[in-house]
Amino acid sequence: MSSALEFDVVILGGGIAGLTCAVGLLDAGLRLAVIERDALLGGRARSWADPTTGDPVHVGPHIVTDCYPNFFRLLERLGTADRVVWEPESLLYTMFDGDRAIELRRSSLPPPVQMLATLRADPALGLLDLASNGGPARVALGLDEQEVLRLDGLDGSAALDALGVRPAMQRRYWQFAAMSILNTPLERVSAGSLLRTFHHAITRDAVRVGFPGVGLGDLFVPGARAAVEAAGHPVWTSTTAAEIVGTDARATGVRLADGRLLRARHVVSTLPPGDLAALLPESWQQRAGLDALRWFSPVPYISVYLWFDRRITARQFWARSYHPDDLNCDFYDYANIYPDWGARPSLVGSNIIDAARVAHWSDAAIVERTREELLENLPAARAATLRHATVHRIPLAVQAPRPGFEARRPPARAPVDGLLLAGDWTRTGLPSSMESAAASGWRAAELVWAHAGRPQALVQPLPSRGRLARVLMAASRVAPWPSRLRRATTRRV
Ligand SMILES: Cc1cc2nc3c(=O)[nH]c(=O)nc-3n(C[C@H](O)[C@H](O)[C@H](O)COP(=O)(O)OP(=O)(O)OC[C@H]3O[C@@H](n4cnc5c(N)ncnc54)[C@H](O)[C@@H]3O)c2cc1C
Repeated sequence: MSSALEFDVVILGGGIAGLTCAVGLLDAGLRLAVIERDALLGGRARSWADPTTGDPVHVGPHIVTDCYPNFFRLLERLGTADRVVWEPESLLYTMFDGDRAIELRRSSLPPPVQMLATLRADPALGLLDLASNGGPARVALGLDEQEVLRLDGLDGSAALDALGVRPAMQRRYWQFAAMSILNTPLERVSAGSLLRTFHHAITRDAVRVGFPGVGLGDLFVPGARAAVEAAGHPVWTSTTAAEIVGTDARATGVRLADGRLLRARHVVSTLPPGDLAALLPESWQQRAGLDALRWFSPVPYISVYLWFDRRITARQFWARSYHPDDLNCDFYDYANIYPDWGARPSLVGSNIIDAARVAHWSDAAIVERTREELLENLPAARAATLRHATVHRIPLAVQAPRPGFEARRPPARAPVDGLLLAGDWTRTGLPSSMESAAASGWRAAELVWAHAGRPQALVQPLPSRGRLARVLMAASRVAPWPSRLRRATTRRV
């Protein structure tokens, strides 16, 4: 039998959560190893050079916001924060209705009224529609984690119906928010996830949207890998973890698919829940916190990149107003994002979210329909010729936050000593995202530091809430929920 390799911490997964955890432990004087199945690091935030053009393409277009303190802590540590390109300060985002561009601007009014001021720019929303957001605002302002779990059994449409939100408001704001932020249609999303996201949105200034000005993975992969390897720790790619080994009481290491055994005092899993379940002994999977790993279900994406023969817009990013028959949700012209692009023609990326509905379409059909949707928004682009296109089929973008999701997200400390859980889907209080992944990675590193008797504060809080929002939050906490919502949540307990 071959002898085991000894480590203090083995980190499974080389995406944002795994690399953040490794970076968070660099000064701890511990022996680390990072294990990544794929040939590329970066996980669901990886990028590469397109083989035909050599241009950097992300697995699919991603945005960051200035409300990502944990992700930016990583970039600052790696010296790459300045490679994020920001939208103009005044713009929240542009929404296209056919060929009509609706500029949704950031308002200087204090939260929570800033959002109403922004949404007034949408001609499809009348005053009564806007006012009907008062119900969810009242509930979201007063929301605590207990109430998130109370709402978690309910779907988004049922909650908004119970709160009297008018159909136009559901269609124009909530359907769009559910798809673009939570990647799940309103009628299938957890009302707990939805209203907590709304809470974050209305208690702080409107976010500013940013984009990677380089390949997405280039923001963090080369810097994190170099820092970890320079400190003498291995980062193994194309290396699959096959089993987390241990006794009934604790995890003691990892068996790799090539048969090697890595012994460790801490195993940090940043794997998606299905991959993690495949590695765990059956008996551990009966324990609270590990017993729901197979319940989670992935949201697939299809991302499309189109290379044109000329510039087709001066915009960086725009979204389509929600329509259930549409394929694409959001478009990006990297000619207006990558700072060193020069005068070259447009490279447009787009995201088809919840893509199972078109998984059977051919690449050619997806490209054609994506082009049609693009031309619907930008008719002037009709004269442009498509030079090259790629279609990225992505089986997992995030775990679907369907009803029951929040209750099943496990905390970082697993019910087995020596095993820590991280990843965007774990219990961070944030929507599954790069920010959630980074926060979970810092948190796992904190727990390892604490175990070594040297506690460190690594997780960054979200920016502070506005003063008016804090006053209204206090008032909302003492006000009972509207009776229709109380009845709807009780029925589902
Ligand atoms: C197309 C697309 C668009 C998105 N848009 C946004 C956006 O705009 N903004 C945003 O914030 N987020 C967005 N996301 C989500 C974001 O990318 C993820 O939340 C984040 O990257 C997850 O990071 P993670 O480290 O938690 O998990 P992962 O990146 O999934 O890392 C887990 C790693 O574990 C590896 N692994 C699995 N099994 C094994 C095994 N047995 N052995 C070894 N390694 C294993 C995997 O290969 C993977 O690299 C998007 C995702 C996609 C795909």
